[in-house]
Amino acid sequence: MNQNKEIIFDSRYGHLTPEVEQKILKSREEIRQIKGRELKCPVCGFRLEEIYGITAGYVHVKCRKCKLEEPLNLAYFRKLKSNSMLINPFKIGHNSR
Ligand SMILES: [Zn+2]
Repeated sequence: MNQNKEIIFDSRYGHLTPEVEQKILKSREEIRQIKGRELKCPVCGFRLEEIYGITAGYVHVKCRKCKLEEPLNLAYFRKLKSNSMLINPFKIGHNSR
């Protein structure tokens, strides 16, 4: 029952407008329906990002452990979470708009 609506960020660097806040909270809501997958560093295996919905495209990653900083094509790094054999019925395309 964690209904924490707080958005944590450092307010020294910027401010949230109510509009952006709404978008963030809505994204959070939507994420619950989607099975995410981990993107791990191809060099050291450190967990880089959690990817939702996107099956293709590029993510620019920066590994905090080994300092690898490269764009990765998600199509080449298609490793699902080990315990997620669930098929996602929604094939959500990358919406670039
Ligand atoms: Zn790494």
